[in-house]
Amino acid sequence: MFAVGAGIPIVGVVLLLVGETNEALVPADAASTDVALQAIQAPQLATMLPSFSGGAARSAPVPTVPPTAITADEPISASAIIEPESAPEPVDFDLLELVVNRGDSLDALFRRNGLRIADLASMLELEDAAEHLRKLMPGDQLQVTRRGDQVLSLQREIRDDAILAITRNDTGYEAREIEREIEIRIVGRHGVIKSSLFEAGMAAEIPDAVIMGMAGIFQWDIDFIQDVRVDDRFTLLYEERWREGEMLGTRSILAAEFVNRGTIHRVARYTDPNGGSDHYTPDGRSVRKAFVRAPVEFTRISGSFNPNRRHPILNTIRAHRGVDYAAPTGTPIIAAGAGKISHRGPNGGYGNAVIIQHGDNITTLYAHMSRFAKPKRGDRVKQGDVIGYVGQTGLATGPHLHYEYRVNGVHRNPRTVELPAAEPVPAQFRNEFDNTAAVLWRQLDAFQSAWVARVANN
Ligand SMILES: [Zn+2]
Repeated sequence: MFAVGAGIPIVGVVLLLVGETNEALVPADAASTDVALQAIQAPQLATMLPSFSGGAARSAPVPTVPPTAITADEPISASAIIEPESAPEPVDFDLLELVVNRGDSLDALFRRNGLRIADLASMLELEDAAEHLRKLMPGDQLQVTRRGDQVLSLQREIRDDAILAITRNDTGYEAREIEREIEIRIVGRHGVIKSSLFEAGMAAEIPDAVIMGMAGIFQWDIDFIQDVRVDDRFTLLYEERWREGEMLGTRSILAAEFVNRGTIHRVARYTDPNGGSDHYTPDGRSVRKAFVRAPVEFTRISGSFNPNRRHPILNTIRAHRGVDYAAPTGTPIIAAGAGKISHRGPNGGYGNAVIIQHGDNITTLYAHMSRFAKPKRGDRVKQGDVIGYVGQTGLATGPHLHYEYRVNGVHRNPRTVELPAAEPVPAQFRNEFDNTAAVLWRQLDAFQSAWVARVANN
């Protein structure tokens, strides 16, 4: 561009004219370079300045000048020195793309690339940055600019909608999060079952995770292994997350309909002003029960509820007051329902156990855990929160979850006990739910008729 070409020699003049003063090192912001600007009566000046302020040199995150170059009596900030006209070119830093290998630490990455370890130490002192720097997974990428062994900037993606950017300034490093825009698209899909639910999902171009999500929503009313028939059909509205033209993944199912052997099941997702969120039927009931039958993904039931069972280790008649779900060590165990953790720790033959109090009269117990998850005694948990991991601590012959369900202190069979329904839409939000859901029903219906019409035309 002309402006840039014309600008560079003039900068030379500017520097020459005021070369002995510190102001020469001050940026080209008009106000701070009065002396220099007055010295040039060039009409090009007007065109020169904007081109610099938008020029490539400015975007280079370059901080310091060698200490010997600073002879000022008063301290000069490093950021003042880096501005374009004092260092127009060449760009004297490199951009490195660091890729994390298995077993890599940041320290190792820095050493391998000849970067200053002291710079890493300074960055790790940044509260906002440290946690994001420490969590490294194989395949993660970090973009580093450096001059010599000095790190000028470091960037990494910390979420799909945010980048952590650490830059060097005159006092050290500073960290900030740069947001990336995510677009949410609502997608409608319709599937008809010919052989299996997953085949139907694939034919309708629905990701497995969404099909699983739908099966999870309707699991309380439909047994997807036993009950599903050929020509059962479903319609889904769900959210996709997009960034810069790339689909990142799917999010909530907003509304769903499943027609199982002629019976229509419909739900809409609703989040009330208190933050409670669930899938509800058109009359405002939750589709869920307050408890899941099996709070772990199990391979088989290795021990049934049996008041007269011979104990496998003690070899005596001893009631088996729960259900044993065999699963590999480390399989997550979830809270069967919402409640408060009343016990978390070793408990005799139960080994590592968690007890959850649900309302006034129901407790659930989870035994033989290899380890606990985050929630502590006294914490509130929601249905589905992970509370621990399968193990075989205490009296156990192999890794499994021993699960008990007690009503008013009396053990009941978790496989057959009648489970209470989850809370409906809170009464005070019922109108708002009706209005919100009405929009979703309309969208669901419109999508369905459009799909039917398209099939009819083909
Ligand atoms: Zn057991």
